[in-house]
Amino acid sequence: MRPDFFANANRLDAIRRANCRRRVSVVEAFDLTPHMRRMIFEDLEPAPSEQEKPADWIKLHVPVLGDGTKHGRAYTVRERSGGKLVIDMALHGGLCASWARRARPGDQAEISGPRKGLKLTWPSDEVLLGADETGLPAVACILANLPRHTRGSVCLEVPDESDIQPIEAPPAIAVGFLPRKTAPPGRLLTQAMREARVSRATAVWVAAERATALELREHFEAMLPRRKVQTSGYWRMPCDETAKRHRFL
Ligand SMILES: Cc1cc2nc3c(=O)[nH]c(=O)nc-3n(C[C@H](O)[C@H](O)[C@H](O)COP(=O)(O)OP(=O)(O)OC[C@H]3O[C@@H](n4cnc5c(N)ncnc54)[C@H](O)[C@@H]3O)c2cc1C
Repeated sequence: MRPDFFANANRLDAIRRANCRRRVSVVEAFDLTPHMRRMIFEDLEPAPSEQEKPADWIKLHVPVLGDGTKHGRAYTVRERSGGKLVIDMALHGGLCASWARRARPGDQAEISGPRKGLKLTWPSDEVLLGADETGLPAVACILANLPRHTRGSVCLEVPDESDIQPIEAPPAIAVGFLPRKTAPPGRLLTQAMREARVSRATAVWVAAERATALELREHFEAMLPRRKVQTSGYWRMPCDETAKRHRFL
């Protein structure tokens, strides 16, 4: 049998496992800040545990109609141990966010995954991390897993000052919060990231609204080797809003 047959079979098996849905039940749900809700689930059908990396994510499928229809979106695994899964969900007008706002212990949903969220060569001695509130849980996981000697900086755009939360980081990493208040999403993050100091040794990781992520990818890929830059669109603003945002910049 050719070796690529086994490689393909393994890949297909990994995809099948990542797409397989399991039931979860809400154990606890509470607001961390006015726009971020922590959800603690019990995994009712735990998958065999794999080597997990920071920024790994699952797809959460929440019930939307009384007929069993589900709506699925990606969320970062903030913590997973002892059959419990923790995710932090930004609160806005979307279906998953609205479900989280109403969720009570005992409510059920489904998850699939986890999948990998960090594709850079890792760890790096110097980092520049940037995110809005949807990428904040991933950034918190990445920081918690970096060696103590890592240098760098982090820009976190949040809806308001009241959404700033304590984040543990190695001592030589400066963590800055950017409360956006009335500014369009991504504007403050883009400005701060563009002004941040980078060297050839810096690894850049960004998770934010799609247009912001694309803009920052272009910016950093012009300065650094591609393998040092990972930017991801974590949500998508409706097209007319994106156009408005570009007029602001
Ligand atoms: C790999 C990955 C990991 C992610 N991890 C997290 C995480 O840990 N925590 C988290 O909160 N999110 C995370 N996200 C983002 C999350 O999946 C999206 O925000 C998702 O769109 C929310 O789904 P929804 O059903 O609430 O809204 P949707 O049905 O997708 O969207 C409905 C409307 O809400 C708008 N919208 C969506 N998200 C936002 C937002 N954040 N702010 C304002 N408007 C919004 C859309 O533009 C749309 O108009 C992650 C995304 C990816 C790809």
